[in-house]
Amino acid sequence: MVKKYGKVTAVHGIDLTIADGEFVVFVGPSGCGKSTTLRMIAGLEDITAGELRIGDEVVNEREPKQRNIAMVFQNYAIYPHMTVGQNIGIGLYTSKLDADEKRARIAATAATLGLEDLLDRRPAALSGGQRQRVAIGRAMVRDPVAFLFDEPLSNLDAQLRAQMRIEIKRLHQRLGTTIVYVTHDQVEAMTMADRIVVMRDGRILQVGTPTEMYEQPVDIFTARFIGSPSMNLVTGTIKDGVLSVADATLADAKVAGLPNGAVQVGVRPHDLLVGTEVSEGLTMKGQVTAVEPLGSETLVHLDVAGAEVIGTAPGKLLPKVNSEVTVSAAPGALYLFDAK
Ligand code: ADP
Repeated sequence: MVKKYGKVTAVHGIDLTIADGEFVVFVGPSGCGKSTTLRMIAGLEDITAGELRIGDEVVNEREPKQRNIAMVFQNYAIYPHMTVGQNIGIGLYTSKLDADEKRARIAATAATLGLEDLLDRRPAALSGGQRQRVAIGRAMVRDPVAFLFDEPLSNLDAQLRAQMRIEIKRLHQRLGTTIVYVTHDQVEAMTMADRIVVMRDGRILQVGTPTEMYEQPVDIFTARFIGSPSMNLVTGTIKDGVLSVADATLADAKVAGLPNGAVQVGVRPHDLLVGTEVSEGLTMKGQVTAVEPLGSETLVHLDVAGAEVIGTAPGKLLPKVNSEVTVSAAPGALYLFDAK
């Protein structure tokens, strides 16, 4: 699918098959084309070129209502003057079900979402999480073939966001309905998705399971985008099968056979151990610039070979700011990227 707005190409080409029942998360920075993609699936935007199929049918020209998919928005449009039951019932507004059937559907939906005792309440008397569930209920009550979520959690505080992530994931496990979910938050992508689609500048960069994204990023962008804190990068050089970073060297199978020249060496903060020397690993000197004790572990901010990096020390170890420490990573924890 391609989307152009006049001369601006918002989506250059999305080529993807989503399996029935799959939970797919589109993730990428603001402006990369996620919402536009979702809105094309929903039928809220015309598709400039390409085909959208649902099942065996091409649905490009089909009205949103006829696609039998339901969208849950970020600013959940809940009507304050209506009760929870009425708000959920809006989802059945155009349905041909009779009144009793509608009531039964609303009750069943409310029960699935744990809202059964709140049906007569107005939104003002609900918590943020309950309101979010009402918005999901409105989508669910229609029994769609897929749910589309557009940044549904970005208005919620951190604690509620974490709670809703689990709720949406459990809901998916229970209902088994396909979900296409858009977010700029890689934690949401990692924690909820069966498959993650990383987008940048209107294109798909990489598609894979959360584990694949984390372990086999195809480039520096995905490598730094997925995982928190972000992967560290330091500049190194390869010469005749030996990797050098400042005055540290590593001769390992990983480096053998790679062409001579500059490389970007990536290592995740959790794999960069402070105060420990990994045998046969890449061991460097670093200067501590800040320390973040988290109890279970300590995140140590360092200057290593002129780069700002983050390493991890055991919780009980609090290196002093400005002190020099050893940082070390196993060869298996290193990612090598072309230096551009
Ligand atoms: P995301 O959801 O990843 O933040 P969007 O899909 O909203 O990104 O936008 C992708 C690109 O398309 C952006 O560059 C945005 O400015 C542009 N865009 C989105 N909607 C319109 C529109 N209605 N008219 C013109 N350009 C648009």
